[in-house]
Amino acid sequence: MTKQILLRFGDLMLKGRNIGSFLRRIKDHVREKMKDLDVEVESQHDRMFIGYRQEDERNVLNRLSRIPGLMSYSIVYVTEPDFEKIIELAREVIDLEIEQDGVRFKIETKRADKTLPLNSQEITLKLAGPILAGAKRRVVVDVRDPEEILHIEIRKEHAYLYLKTIPGLGGYPVGILGKGLVMTSSGIDSPVAAFFAMKQGIEVELFHFESTPMTPIESVQKVVDVAKVLRLYAPRETIRLHLVPFRDIHNAILEYVPSPYTITIMRRMMYRLAERYVKKNRLLTIITGESVGQVASQTLQSLKAIEVVTSFPIIRPLVTMDKTEIIKVARTIGTFDISTRPFEDCCSIYVPKQPATKPMHIYALRYEELFDYETLLEDSLKHVRTLSVGPSFELDLAGSGMTVEEALGNDYNGIGDEDDHVETKSQF
Ligand code: ATP
Ligand code: MG
Repeated sequence: MTKQILLRFGDLMLKGRNIGSFLRRIKDHVREKMKDLDVEVESQHDRMFIGYRQEDERNVLNRLSRIPGLMSYSIVYVTEPDFEKIIELAREVIDLEIEQDGVRFKIETKRADKTLPLNSQEITLKLAGPILAGAKRRVVVDVRDPEEILHIEIRKEHAYLYLKTIPGLGGYPVGILGKGLVMTSSGIDSPVAAFFAMKQGIEVELFHFESTPMTPIESVQKVVDVAKVLRLYAPRETIRLHLVPFRDIHNAILEYVPSPYTITIMRRMMYRLAERYVKKNRLLTIITGESVGQVASQTLQSLKAIEVVTSFPIIRPLVTMDKTEIIKVARTIGTFDISTRPFEDCCSIYVPKQPATKPMHIYALRYEELFDYETLLEDSLKHVRTLSVGPSFELDLAGSGMTVEEALGNDYNGIGDEDDHVETKSQF
């Protein structure tokens, strides 16, 4: 029995002038994700067929489940466009895939080969009798409310039969909207925000503020591991992770800023750094894992007092989701277990006892005048470390208490997995 997987790309979205680039991108993404497997990929206008070895089936299906822009896919059985052959195969497919007798059932035929003398309806009528008479499984024909539909598609070269349609991730091909920078902490939310951004067509780079050795190097390791998961949804083998030195800024804030405002000002500094990076590198947006109401720093007043330092569009995919919903997605995409390892980064460690829930921009400005943050920001940006995180990327962790410099080794010169561009110079 010859099996293939048929991929469908959303037809609602395939209108307008973007169709060409939409299809090109998603097809490239599919090919990239299959390239180490023994598969044959055949591309038609708005769909694709993947021929594969049976032992790779699970693997191929898993990879397809992580491709944004893919609307649905089906395992299809292929034969010649000959009625006898189709009848024989249809019986086998029913016996193989329908698990019990009595299932309400219908056949639907599509005739792409218009030179056939019979129309689709007539073909269904002609095939249904012999198919059902010969199948061992006893189904009940119910054309109004079927539980299972056997689709038969007859084309010039081949006939395709399938029963099940698996929903894909949906969304848009990654990158079709351009690139954004995800402020990625070692917590639960920002990886989920990154996932939603990718699913909706934004290619992402990750931006992590690290305060090692004040905060444990293991919290940086968490972000590296998150990057390894997120890359599974990306069209390339690797994903870029920028490690942004934050320790000196962090220390200055703890030293000079009254504790109710430390979080507000820390976040304002993060936004300033992200915005400068984004402008310099011509990315289009900043994405965060913020959602309203979760913690003191996420009241509406607080978001306003933080966001006012940037003029860039900020995307907050999780803004009105509650923690339970976010955790559900984190589990599904595979980042939850990483994010919940015990090590925390700068925002979670040294949290003030009573943070201001209604911070104000004018007070924040006043506190920021107490130290020379401009120099600290510029210095931090000069020392951003950019990693291309692919499947084999590892930090060199000798033990706790290390700094990022130590974990990257002295001769850091831009580090990445082989197949990607390696950064050799500072971004600034
Ligand atoms: P998360 O689970 O993503 O950390 P959170 O609910 O714990 O979110 P905060 O810790 O207040 O909330 O952070 C809010 C957002 O700020 C994060 O989602 C992330 O986008 C950004 N952020 C916080 N800390 C960092 C960090 N160390 N590096 C990069 N971004 C950060
Ligand atoms: Mg956090």
